[in-house]
Amino acid sequence: MADFSPMMKQYFEAKKENPDSILFFRLGDFYEMFFNDAKTVSRELDLTLTGRDCGQGERAPMCGIPFHSAEGYITKLLAKGYRVTICDQVEDPKTVKGLVKREVVRVITPGTVLEGSMLDESRNNYICSVCRGEEGVGLCFADVSTGELHAEQLEPMEDVRELIRELENRISRFSPKELLTDEGIGELSELGAFFRDKLQAAVQRLDKEEYNLSRAGETVSKQFGGRSLEDLGLSGRPMAVTALGALLVYLGRTQITGLERLREIELESDSAYMTLDLNTVRNLELIETMRNKERRGSLLWVLDRTKTPMGKRLIRAWLERPLMSPAKITLRLNAVEELAGDRQLLDELTEQLTGIHDLERIMTRIVYGSANGRDLRALCAALQKLPGLKRVLDRCQATMLCGLNGQIDDLEDISGLIDEAIDENPPFTIREGKLIKKGFSVELDEIRSDMTGGQSLIASVEMRERERTGIPKLKVGFNKVFGYYIEVTNSYKDLVPEDYIRKQTLTGGERYITPELKELENRVLGAHDRSIEMESRIFDGIRRQVASELDRVQQSARAVAALDVLASFAMVSVKNDYTRPVVNLSGKIYLKDCRHPVVEALPQDTPFVPNDVDMDMNDTRVAVITGPNMAGKSTYMRQTAIISIMAQIGCFVPAAVAELGIVDSIYTRVGASDDLSAGQSTFMIEMSEVADILRNATQGSLIIFDEIGRGTSTFDGMSIARAVLEFVHDPKLVGAKTLFATHYHELTEMESLLPGVKNFNIAVKKRGDDITFLRRIVRGGADDSFGIEVAKLAGVPDKVIRRAKQVLGELENSGGEMSPRAFRDNEEPVQLTMDNTGSQVLQRLRELDVNAMTPMQCMNALFELNSML
Ligand code: ADP
Repeated sequence: MADFSPMMKQYFEAKKENPDSILFFRLGDFYEMFFNDAKTVSRELDLTLTGRDCGQGERAPMCGIPFHSAEGYITKLLAKGYRVTICDQVEDPKTVKGLVKREVVRVITPGTVLEGSMLDESRNNYICSVCRGEEGVGLCFADVSTGELHAEQLEPMEDVRELIRELENRISRFSPKELLTDEGIGELSELGAFFRDKLQAAVQRLDKEEYNLSRAGETVSKQFGGRSLEDLGLSGRPMAVTALGALLVYLGRTQITGLERLREIELESDSAYMTLDLNTVRNLELIETMRNKERRGSLLWVLDRTKTPMGKRLIRAWLERPLMSPAKITLRLNAVEELAGDRQLLDELTEQLTGIHDLERIMTRIVYGSANGRDLRALCAALQKLPGLKRVLDRCQATMLCGLNGQIDDLEDISGLIDEAIDENPPFTIREGKLIKKGFSVELDEIRSDMTGGQSLIASVEMRERERTGIPKLKVGFNKVFGYYIEVTNSYKDLVPEDYIRKQTLTGGERYITPELKELENRVLGAHDRSIEMESRIFDGIRRQVASELDRVQQSARAVAALDVLASFAMVSVKNDYTRPVVNLSGKIYLKDCRHPVVEALPQDTPFVPNDVDMDMNDTRVAVITGPNMAGKSTYMRQTAIISIMAQIGCFVPAAVAELGIVDSIYTRVGASDDLSAGQSTFMIEMSEVADILRNATQGSLIIFDEIGRGTSTFDGMSIARAVLEFVHDPKLVGAKTLFATHYHELTEMESLLPGVKNFNIAVKKRGDDITFLRRIVRGGADDSFGIEVAKLAGVPDKVIRRAKQVLGELENSGGEMSPRAFRDNEEPVQLTMDNTGSQVLQRLRELDVNAMTPMQCMNALFELNSML
């Protein structure tokens, strides 16, 4: 160590504090990385690896990036799972002699990013902390970029499987980017795998002492201005406090600058939200499509017409957390109804919302001191929209809209201050000047006039000297090295007066200075420096003043977000002809002419055919749905689940009439799962999903089973399907409303065996070998599976279709025994003729409209048919 240069010693100090992250070490205009960090970064980001002499025999591996473009590189490193420590120069290199002081100012991890440029505007960026003790499980989530903070405590759970499942559900509701766990949770390796693989979150197991209740209590209370745990609603929730305490300490350690942004806790209660596990969110394509993970084609894509980044984040959060309380849902529905019913009101509201920038994340930059003039102007422009927004809201009656209006502060004092002080087109950095408007500060204006006065005096020197010396092309110029100078071309060199001091020789001339010029220069440059310093002082003062109003801005931002989502629901409801649902605790689902909101919104060859749903807790608890592949079974089941979700987030629904009993959870088991990553077979995955559903579903759940038992032999599969059906039907075991699509026609017999089962099928029309999908759901089981007809529709070669029919005929005649005789090519002509003639006769017969024929025509037709044989 002794041999290292002083700067490298500084480096090692910083590295020692954060050994498991990549250290960005500021050297002038660059962030440099050394040793293994340099190798990693050069490999990951494809940067050139160089070396630096650091007082050792060998040069240290080094790689660097310009400091002003660091954010892009950091984003990439975080996405690859790294953490980045920033070590900055904390002194101005111009003012110190020798080594500049450097300090670690931040550690950036996936869950602690503040910078808008490194975040997705349309979603929150949560960090989660979770711990487990005798009193239960503590959970909390924070988004430091918006100031959101949630905490909850779950009851103790003996069964580890149940615990894991519950945590997966709770945590995936927030999709955090980073998870902090204690040892109790860290031990559950299955959970760790879920976090990493499914949520793609970075997981940090913290030391035991980080999760310490008494220390946590102090930390939490200190964070919230000395308020007691009781006052914060946290008494009796020791695990929630412990989890929160550990999170705050971790954030404090990574942010260094403090945690001013987190000022309120939202306490989650167990029964507030519908349970939607990750599988269901994915299967129902709520946020993105299953196949390409695209937004287009998801429910969010249909519903999101929000105008602000806050609204975009909130609509996603609402969709991930549908409500359970009919009263709360009704509040939202009333608001949507009022907006949807008055087009002019809705249009005006939408107009006012347009252009409100990201108040939450701009405030974060303002609070942490990283905001520039443009951020303040963006805040001002957004705030200037608020009075107009309030005027529109003044006309509203709905309780929720009036409540939101009350929460929005017009904040005219803040927008007025910014508008008065900050230039309309401020520079990117403070050091460029022209940030503060003329007239805002007398002192600043004086310094500036001093500067301009000096500048015009310098300009006058040129004229005067030309006259005095008789050199017509004499010029006064400025460069960074010599400051102001007088330039004379070689042809006039002889005329240069005595008092000029030569400074620089050029090929075509000479540059000089004079004592007068230097004095003016000092005046101008001094004034320039002073004005910049003054500007940044004023700017900082304004920034602080705005930061001190955080609570008011934050409250308004939240209200704007909710308003934006309600307006979006109203707009979509009007445009797509949705209906207000009746939401209650009846346990029923009654939908008349309902549609799938996404399928109907995507371009289709034929219009979407609406269908009815009528389920309850009694006679129609389990709907067994049969019908050929492609008939629309899946679509029908999904639309039922999606409509329940839409109603419970407070949106209107695509149906003519809708009554929805609150559903406490939705479970889906849908085929074609592409999830083969864990190396399990498709059937194994299917069965473990079924097992999970059977363990967790309750009477209040809605379950979708799409063709279970498909992945194994017919008898196995059918037996499993039947047993599962019986299990979910039984109120003592599950008793949930269930939509059960199956290709096992035998299961339609269950209707006569179990009181809560009803058969449905999706009608098809058959004509000859051809079938048409009618897409209408009707009572009763399907009488045929039409598999071969669907295969024909899909373009399977005729030869195969004919052979399949033949095998089917044999199977049906032999009671399921396969004929040992295989299809042989040389048999084809004989069989073909027979088969073909028969089907031609049948075809002709089918075409006859006997009712419309005269007896004579019938006779002729008979002859014709006879002659065809
Ligand atoms: P299944 O589950 O019976 O195999 P799907 O639900 O996957 O069938 O539907 C097959 C196709 O039919 C889908 O492409 C879907 O867009 C279309 N479809 C389904 N239901 C309807 C409907 N009610 N109206 C119009 N098209 C529909």
